[in-house]
Amino acid sequence: MTHVAVVGGGPAGLSAALFTAKNDLETTVFDADETWMHKAHLFNYLGIESEDGTAFVEDAREQVAGFGVDYRETEVTGVSEAEDGFTVATEDGEVEADYVVLATGADRSLAEDLGASFTDEDVVDVDVDMETSVRGVYATGAMVRAEEWQAIIAAGDGAAAALNILSAEKGEHFHDFDVPDDAA
Ligand SMILES: Cc1cc2nc3c(=O)[nH]c(=O)nc-3n(C[C@H](O)[C@H](O)[C@H](O)COP(=O)(O)OP(=O)(O)OC[C@H]3O[C@@H](n4cnc5c(N)ncnc54)[C@H](O)[C@@H]3O)c2cc1C
Repeated sequence: MTHVAVVGGGPAGLSAALFTAKNDLETTVFDADETWMHKAHLFNYLGIESEDGTAFVEDAREQVAGFGVDYRETEVTGVSEAEDGFTVATEDGEVEADYVVLATGADRSLAEDLGASFTDEDVVDVDVDMETSVRGVYATGAMVRAEEWQAIIAAGDGAAAALNILSAEKGEHFHDFDVPDDAA
């Protein structure tokens, strides 16, 4: 089974995890739980009038858990290319993954260790699908922008990365479209 390893459990990482798990890819989120959202209060996230940042993260974790995401509160100490995919090293051992979504906020060290390209502004260089120069490794959220740090942008990055992974897996452009009858 395809395994997506997401490093970071802020808006970027949880959004990526939501899309991949919802569409039946085995998804693990590794998170040190130091998201900036714990310091934020949202008035600027479309569809949410006013919400404490920690409450937002707790809701998001519950939502992704509902789709089967395996959330592990642990620090990732390294990500390396393996023969067939990637090895994610944590304090608790190693995990193999086919895709890695980096969503570690402004900490870009794992991307640097992997040899991903950086821009002149010293942020991780990604294409419009958030894929880095290392095929199969995505970078999302604060790590790909010098200053434009907003929760809704980070969540959008995560969604873009996930849709690209899903398109690659299905061999054609993929849309995660639901209709009102699906809620019945
Ligand atoms: C004081 C303050 C107020 C803010 N107010 C707003 C606001 O009102 N509206 C708004 O839109 N945005 C606001 N922001 C910005 C918003 O919080 C960020 O844009 C958003 O959190 C970025 O999301 P992210 O997923 O990229 O990174 P983060 O939310 O920072 O998440 C990164 C996660 O990765 C984890 N991590 C990092 N390295 C590792 C590792 N090696 N292993 C495992 N886990 C790791 C971290 O612990 C963290 O949980 C505010 C930020 C601050 C600091």
